[in-house]
Amino acid sequence: MSDRTESESRKLLGRLRDTMAEEAAGQARLDKITHLTADSMGTEVCSIYLFRDEDTLELCATEGLKSEAVHQTRMRLGEGLVGRVARSGKIVNAADAPSARGFRYMPETGEEIYSSFLGVPIQRLGEKLGVLVVQSKQAREFTADEVYALEVVAMVLAEMAELGAFVGEGAALKARHTQPVLIRGTQGQEGAAEGHVWLHEPRVVVTNLVADDPEKEMERLHKAVESLRVSVDGILANASDPEQVQVLEAYRMFANSKGWLKRMEEDIERGLSAESAVEKEQSNARARMSQVTDAYLRERLQDLDDLSNRLLRILTGQGAETGADLPANPVLVARNIGPGELLEYGRSLKGVVLEEGSVGSHAAIVARALAIPLVIHAGRITTEALNGDHIMVDGDQGLVHLRPDDSVVSAFRDKMAMQAEALERYASIRETPCVSACGARIGLHMNAGLMADLPSLSNSGAEGVGLFRTELQFLVRNQMPRRMELAALYARVLDAAGGRQVIFRTLDIGSDKVLPYMKPNDEPNPALGWRAIRVGLDKPGVLRMQLQALLRAANGRSLTVMFPFVAQLDEFRAARAEMDKAIAREERLGHVLPERIEVGTMLETPSLAYAPDGFFREVDFVSIGGNDLKQFFFAADRENERVRRRYDTLNTSFLTFIERIVQRCEAAGTPLSFCGEDAGRPIEALCLAAIGLRSLSMRAPSIGPVKHLLLRSNLDEVRKVILDARDSDAQSVRPAVMEYLRGAG
Ligand code: PEP
Ligand code: MG
Repeated sequence: MSDRTESESRKLLGRLRDTMAEEAAGQARLDKITHLTADSMGTEVCSIYLFRDEDTLELCATEGLKSEAVHQTRMRLGEGLVGRVARSGKIVNAADAPSARGFRYMPETGEEIYSSFLGVPIQRLGEKLGVLVVQSKQAREFTADEVYALEVVAMVLAEMAELGAFVGEGAALKARHTQPVLIRGTQGQEGAAEGHVWLHEPRVVVTNLVADDPEKEMERLHKAVESLRVSVDGILANASDPEQVQVLEAYRMFANSKGWLKRMEEDIERGLSAESAVEKEQSNARARMSQVTDAYLRERLQDLDDLSNRLLRILTGQGAETGADLPANPVLVARNIGPGELLEYGRSLKGVVLEEGSVGSHAAIVARALAIPLVIHAGRITTEALNGDHIMVDGDQGLVHLRPDDSVVSAFRDKMAMQAEALERYASIRETPCVSACGARIGLHMNAGLMADLPSLSNSGAEGVGLFRTELQFLVRNQMPRRMELAALYARVLDAAGGRQVIFRTLDIGSDKVLPYMKPNDEPNPALGWRAIRVGLDKPGVLRMQLQALLRAANGRSLTVMFPFVAQLDEFRAARAEMDKAIAREERLGHVLPERIEVGTMLETPSLAYAPDGFFREVDFVSIGGNDLKQFFFAADRENERVRRRYDTLNTSFLTFIERIVQRCEAAGTPLSFCGEDAGRPIEALCLAAIGLRSLSMRAPSIGPVKHLLLRSNLDEVRKVILDARDSDAQSVRPAVMEYLRGAG
């Protein structure tokens, strides 16, 4: 970098800062910036294009192009060279712009006389704000130094925009963070919520963008990096969890990276403050992140992003703890959150919106257990949302309305009112036994996993807990829970159930559920790997401890236990033998034994449906885990957004398969239940009941809607509809059942 460009650059940034400090309207500031930049770079033209909506850019200020074109010239994302810069997030440097790929001539601007074109994206932390362009008559490529200088200006512009420096008339000049934003994410947990944003990690606000004294800034940066290194080394020295160690080692690598530091030093030389230099690097990393598909690389860029945040917090002294109070009706907004942290917020939250996350993540499991509406993959939410912003979360559709306008608010509230009305309707049938119109009695039970779920037993009218997922207690801790702790918890669950049956499922870990304190296994296909009962039988210590805790918790009461992911008879026998050993041990130790013990299994692998008859005779009950069973039946990963909704549960092949399981259980006199998510969907529940299921277990809020439909349905008629649809070669019975229900009113 030449000293001349460096001092030019510093001078320009100093002037930009003065512009920021002056009392002026947003437009006047933009005009001045284009003038100063063109002057400093020695180009005839400098223009600023900003987004007026998600895919339209507007010329907002120019030096050199016709002034009549300002706020008139617009282009779509990807249109012309400016649109190309905006879409790709990459610079375009063309000596002969008219012959460059994608060039589009805008006659109203008078740009035809300018040959060379340099456009850089204006972006902040991965969020695209617009494009900064310089043009000149002379046909030449801009030098690397010039490109760099313009990028620094664009970065300062982005920060100024964030601070509201360009607020004025017109969509493109509206204050940032005041416009309504609709974010389309993915459904994580159904339900609707309205409230105010609570940022799990408030953003660091950088106000000093430009600095006069590079030496001082350099010193600040070096000091901060040093303190960052020391703190990472300190945490690393105490870390034992291999995954955490891996992340920290990546942090350390970045913290010691010469390239990273050098780029920030260069930015400071050009006049940026230490904070801005860090943010510029962070923005670049985010921009790269959006283009990288390799999971490993993305994670490393994520590490770099986290590290930049830490560095910014050191430099600005802004901790994660802002001292602000949780707003009324808080909706948690985070890039990601751990299950333990989410549990700490507990039911105080109205909703959760995550920029990342996955349907099977622990946080999603906890949100589901707490019945909090959750949207995941809500891109940009952490950059768009500010603490306290009005937010509406539509967990059914996976939509987030941030700062919604009046029409959205009233439509959304109508929807919530309808849901509340329906809830009232369901409350009136809470105590009604679930008997279909044709007289079939269906047991409706709830799925649970936390102590906090138990009050729902009475509120929902569930007859018992058909599935208590014990792994949540293991997932939300940093170390293996002790037997006494577990026994106390299971005892409280049984107390709260007040004599109603609770089916405790033994630890189901592996696949998507990795315990933070267990060595992760690097398996090519974790869902088909070493999980659930396979772990329990190979390393029986934890299973034994859990069985003992359950026996003690029962303390003379009835106990029902089931094993997850049993694939064949021998596995059931081996697991059952562990239970028998545990009983014998308790007896030897003189502990009171449960008055009755039932031991069943989940049916989650197709193989178990074809187990020898002995299996169905020996097992006390079977519960179909439709979530896993469906993924193995259709060979469609339940975690993979691309395929997980591809196959209908009401697909005739799948229903025929379930019917077969019903017949086998009937023949052996074995009680059968269905506890996957589909049991909580009214149409699915109706069809399951119609093919013979007499017990369903679901999320507590689903019990009302499912019961409401079952009470008025004639299962014999629905069964006939299903058989007819199958006979007529339908792929799914859904259309026929829907039509029947419409006809039945
Ligand atoms: C299932 O697989 O259907 C089930 C209930 O278990 P989980 O969702 O916990 O895997
Ligand atoms: Mg399962």
